[in-house]
Amino acid sequence: ERRVVVVGAGMAGVQTAVALREQGFTGTVTLIGAEPHQPYDRPPLSKAVLLGTAEGSAFDIDFEALGITLRLGCEALGVRPAEHVLDTSEGPVPYDVLVLATGAEPIRLPGTEGVPGVHLLRTLDDAERLRPVLARQHDVVVVGAGWIGAEFATAAREAGCAVTVVEAADRPLAGALPDEVAAPMTTWYADAGAVLRTHARVERVEPGGPGEPGHVVVLDDGSRLPAGAVVVGIGARPATAWLAGSGIGLGAQGEVLADDRLRASVPDVHAVGDCASFPSGRYGERLLVHHWDNALQGPRTVAADIIGAVGGEAVAAYDPVPYFWSEQFGRFVQYAGHHTDADATLWRGDPSGPAWTVCWLREGRMVALLAVGRPRDLAQGKRLIQAGATMDPRLLADPAKPLKAA
Ligand code: FAD
Repeated sequence: ERRVVVVGAGMAGVQTAVALREQGFTGTVTLIGAEPHQPYDRPPLSKAVLLGTAEGSAFDIDFEALGITLRLGCEALGVRPAEHVLDTSEGPVPYDVLVLATGAEPIRLPGTEGVPGVHLLRTLDDAERLRPVLARQHDVVVVGAGWIGAEFATAAREAGCAVTVVEAADRPLAGALPDEVAAPMTTWYADAGAVLRTHARVERVEPGGPGEPGHVVVLDDGSRLPAGAVVVGIGARPATAWLAGSGIGLGAQGEVLADDRLRASVPDVHAVGDCASFPSGRYGERLLVHHWDNALQGPRTVAADIIGAVGGEAVAAYDPVPYFWSEQFGRFVQYAGHHTDADATLWRGDPSGPAWTVCWLREGRMVALLAVGRPRDLAQGKRLIQAGATMDPRLLADPAKPLKAA
C-alpha cells in the first residue's frame, strides 16, 4: 500500500488529500499540520471571521469518512529524501510520496517580534487576537497597503476603528499593480474614512507614554502615530526554512522549485500552493502565486501525477490562468492572468467610478485583467485569456459591449 504524506493542512494540503481520494487513490493518506486547529480556510480571516459575523472557517470535510488521517499540532522539521523519511516534532514519518504544502508566513516588521499589540494576520489565532481590537474600536495603524492591509483596514473601519495605513511606496499595491491602476484605488481609503500615508517608512514601534495608547509607530520622518494596535501586512514568504539542507531545490524567495507537474527536484516529492513556484508555459516564466485558487487547482495536478505514476498515464502540465479576488472598501476586486510592466494596458470604464476593468495586452492577446465590480468581465476575460484570443482594442475599450475576441 502506497503511503502519501502531505505536510501542511491548509487549502493546498487539504485539497491534495481530498483530490487523491476523488481520483481513486487507495493507499494511505496522512495530512500533517503544525496548527492545532481543525483545517480551515484563510480568506474569511480578514473578512467575516475578523468582524465576528462568522465564528470560524473550518473546511466542511469529513476526513475520517475519506480515510484521511489528520495529525494536527505536528510540525515538520526536515526531510531525508534518500531515506523517504519526514522528520517531525512527533518523530520520523516514512513516506512513499511526500507533498509539501506548508504555505507562506507573513514577513515581520524588524524589531517587533513578540511585541504584544503588534499583530500579523495569517492564522486563525491571529484573527482571534484581532477580534477584540475591532470590538473595542481601538485606533489602529496598519503597516502596508497591500491586499491584506486593505482588507484589514476595511474591516476595522466597518467596526468603527480609526485607521491609518502607512505605506513605504507611493501608492497602494505597489508590488502588484502599475501606478495608473493603483492610483485610482488611493481614494478608496479616504472614501472609507481611513487615512493613507504613502512614502511612509516605519522606523520603530515604541510603547506609548503616559496618556498615550499602547503603542506609537514612529516613521523615519519623525512623525509619531499613536495606536491601540498595530497590524503588519507587508507580504509573505514561502514557509520552507525547515527544508534547508534537504537537497530540495528552493528559489530566490525560498519557494520550492516545482516542475510543470508540481514535482520538486528530488524523487517522490511534490510541492503545491503558496510554498511552490512552477514554470508557466502560458506566460513563459516561473510563477509563485500566493492566492487561494492556485491552492485549489494545483492539488488536482499533484493527485493525478501521484496516481498517474502508477497507471503510466500522461498527466497534463499545470498551466492555470491565475485568479484571485479581494473584498476591500465595499468593492469586489478580481484579477485573472499575469502581466508584466511591458504589457500594454487598456481601460474599460472610468476608474474614478464604482465599476471598471483594466486589461493587459501582449501582441494583441489579452494576458490579464483586473475587474472592479464587473464580475462578468472577469468571467469572460478569464476565458479569453485561457483561449489566447486576439482582441480588438476598440471593442475592448467599450464597457457597454461584452468582452469577446476580435
Ligand atoms: P496555507 O494556507 O498557508 O497553509 C499552510 C499550512 O501549513 C498552515 O496551516 C501552516 O501552519 C502549515 N505549516 C507550515 N509549516 C509547517 C511545518 N513545518 N509543518 C507542518 N505544518 C506546517 N486569496 C485569495 O485569492 N483571495 C482572498 O480574498 C484571500 N484572502 C486572504 C486573507 C488572509 C487573511 C490570508 C492570510 C490569505 C488570503 N488569501 C486570499 C490567500 C490564500 O488564503 C492562500 O493563498 C492560501 O491559503 C494558500 O494555501 P496553502 O495551503 O498553500 O497555504
